[in-house]
Amino acid sequence: MLMNKNDITEQAHRVYPDLTLNILTRQEHKISRKQISESALKVLYRLQSSGYHAYLVGGGVRDLLLGESPKDFDITTNATPEQVRKLFRNCRLIGRRFRLAHVMFGREIVEVATFRGHHQENDRQKSSQSEAGMLLRDNVYGTIDEDAERRDFTINAMYYNIADYTIHDYAGGIEDIEDRLIRLIGDPQTRYREDPVRMLRAIRFAVKLDFDIEEETAAPIEALSPLLQDIPSARLYEESLKMLQTGYGLETYHQMRHYNLFQQLFPMISAYFTEDHSSPTEKMLDLSLDSTDQRIEEGKRINPAFMFAAILWYPMIHLAETFMESKNLCYYDAVMEAGNKILDQLVKTIAIPRRHTATIRDIWQLQLRFPRRHGKRAFRLLDINKFRAGFDFLTMRGIVEGGETQELAQWWETFQNAGKNMRQAMVNDIGRINSKKAKARQRQTGQQKNSQDVP
Ligand code: ATP
Ligand code: MG
Repeated sequence: MLMNKNDITEQAHRVYPDLTLNILTRQEHKISRKQISESALKVLYRLQSSGYHAYLVGGGVRDLLLGESPKDFDITTNATPEQVRKLFRNCRLIGRRFRLAHVMFGREIVEVATFRGHHQENDRQKSSQSEAGMLLRDNVYGTIDEDAERRDFTINAMYYNIADYTIHDYAGGIEDIEDRLIRLIGDPQTRYREDPVRMLRAIRFAVKLDFDIEEETAAPIEALSPLLQDIPSARLYEESLKMLQTGYGLETYHQMRHYNLFQQLFPMISAYFTEDHSSPTEKMLDLSLDSTDQRIEEGKRINPAFMFAAILWYPMIHLAETFMESKNLCYYDAVMEAGNKILDQLVKTIAIPRRHTATIRDIWQLQLRFPRRHGKRAFRLLDINKFRAGFDFLTMRGIVEGGETQELAQWWETFQNAGKNMRQAMVNDIGRINSKKAKARQRQTGQQKNSQDVP
């Protein structure tokens, strides 16, 4: 049964007095069906022709209103996930905390969510809350106006109705789009406690859209930032990629630091943060995030392992140095052990998949191999799978550290670009330098011996 506009408004008022539904007719907004992906349109129309309500919602509507192209299209409906599945052959149901239907069109996935409702005390089967007020399960279905109240920000609670091409703006999202404001729906404290990841999302959208965070939405973040410690590590891994690896990483990191959020995700590196952002760890963070942003802009491939390797490098080296003393290990073994230790700590908060932690170790290990270039070693290193990543990493260290590291990075730069004969000459030079150094060492120890011999 279709609800008319007045019914919906009345209900929204009854349940949640702050929300006032504003409906924009087709003539009053600029979203056209041409901007919506064909797959999303197919899903919307199939739901509608099967007697369900179907709306485009979230980032799709928000980004189109801002004149941007959405990264994906989210749909919401009054059909349950099971009903959605029956309509589409290419559909699978996912999620425990949030049960959703994914409709697959080749590589494109259209996400279909059923309207969320409010939680009743006796609905333990479908929803549950932790002692801190965090929602652990969220599968109570409801009406569209309840669904709007459950969304995070006003600009994410606008619904494009496929039945008449109107936009239903429940929380003043249109006005906030115009004022360029990220504003939580409802009481910020409560909404962050329900789901602390909303703090990260506030920062992410503010940076990506170049919006300000509205005052009351920003105010509780710093104090509530430790709540992120309760979020499962798999979810934080996904979020950390969205924050740092989607083209706005550098600015997002600085904002996260400002609100004490970065420190929650990477507790082991906060000790290396300084007032003026001048420690090697901070310089490495700036360089690696800036280069990731640049690569994304240029359409190049990126590997999250590189960023994690960069974030942790100097804290890891520092730990290795303490291990050399305390465990009496050689440098190589100390680095390997410190690497393991620090990655073990990190995966407790951010569940980096094993294939990435393996690459992080490879990049680190290469740093120990780069100085050793004599004989066939340099030639062999060039053929190693992760050589390029390792070399880019060395170049960044060169910028941070200067001196010998920078010289080493320059040597490798020249070596890669040189022809066969030149490469051989460079390696021979290393051999000469090494034997000179060895002779000098011998002389020195000889002299020391001699001087010890003197009575
Ligand atoms: P983008 O996809 O561009 O990152 P988005 O707004 O579409 O942005 P999604 O994560 O795809 O973000 O979520 C789709 C919509 O679901 C959001 O716009 C919002 O309405 C709702 N939503 C997502 N996560 C939450 C959350 N943690 N709390 C409340 N609502 C949420
Ligand atoms: Mg989305």
